[in-house]
Amino acid sequence: MKRVLVLLAALLGISGVALVPEGTARSAPAAQAAEAVTMTCSRPVLDVATGQPLSIGGIPWYAEAGDTIMSHEWQGRPRFEYAGRRYHYIGGVAGPNRIFIVEDCTQPQATPPPAPPPTVTRIAEDVYVFSQTGYTTMFIVTEEGVIVGDPIGNARARLLKEAIERVTPLPVKYVVYSHHDADHNTGAAVFKDTATYVAHVNAKDKIAARNDPNSPVPDITFEDRMTLRLGRARLELSYVGRNHSDSSIVALYPARRVAFIVDFIPIGDLPFGTRNEDYIAEWIESLRRVEAMDFDTIIPGHGNPGPKVWATWIREYFQDLVTAMEDAERAGLAQRSPQMLASVRAALYPKYGSWNLFGPRLADNVRGMYEYWGRMGRFPAR
Ligand SMILES: [Zn+2]
Repeated sequence: MKRVLVLLAALLGISGVALVPEGTARSAPAAQAAEAVTMTCSRPVLDVATGQPLSIGGIPWYAEAGDTIMSHEWQGRPRFEYAGRRYHYIGGVAGPNRIFIVEDCTQPQATPPPAPPPTVTRIAEDVYVFSQTGYTTMFIVTEEGVIVGDPIGNARARLLKEAIERVTPLPVKYVVYSHHDADHNTGAAVFKDTATYVAHVNAKDKIAARNDPNSPVPDITFEDRMTLRLGRARLELSYVGRNHSDSSIVALYPARRVAFIVDFIPIGDLPFGTRNEDYIAEWIESLRRVEAMDFDTIIPGHGNPGPKVWATWIREYFQDLVTAMEDAERAGLAQRSPQMLASVRAALYPKYGSWNLFGPRLADNVRGMYEYWGRMGRFPAR
């Protein structure tokens, strides 16, 4: 997911909070254009309300050197200073007053916190899950070389390469991009001496347009499905329609009943659902297609693997969100009003309140749904 969360108009006040710049409380900032910032250092992503580092799926969330973050303008300011340090707004949220920020790299920290080391978990005989600083990918080791998923950023890609080299001397033969978002496919150039790059056809031009030598343009693309063979391994790549992006694929490894699926089935988290690239009605259909597939475990792009039933739960979440929003409208609550948000929150809390990021993301999802309806029209949620 791009760390792109635009602020919700009904943002509640955040006064009395240590990291908040003056004069920011209780007004209604409009969504603003974002500016891309390339990090030249590694910094934890903080919750502005508490100053505490955030996690995704239980893994500490970092903006790493080389990552591109989208720094949003808020109250006319893309960044602010506090205690002599500069911060970027990288996401905004209403609800319990949550905004994500990251410290600017322009001022060296006295003691920069070291990024935690990656974790590498062997989840099947030949399948490894690699996670660091909020991001996750996987690799499959065959007798003829390695198939790897997303490189997940320049710094992480170098660690990923080292992790693979500790498991096998064989080269990486294929890199499979999950979708076109830069934060997932930057860094893939570390494998360029030996690898062929594979992606959905819709990802190719968008990656090419970035003209980033660290993100090689896909050599092989497909529209609906494709089988990638290496040694005895067979990876079934398929396109299930638009959802979080128009280039998201499912990389299913039937022999081990696992699938690499990034950003459109978050494990344990509320989804992002706030971007111009989100296609929520089609997202629901794409989830049904995943539900019909025969496998057990999802390896996500953030956090830890989880059972396939998350495809069903994310579908139900979107459907329940539409229902709760339309119920609130029928009850006479004004669209996008704090009262409406409170009503939606109350309706969804019993089933979804325990999900990670329920507080921060629900308001974004409500706003994103209105933007989606405005763009694409309403759709039956059932
Ligand atoms: Zn994404």
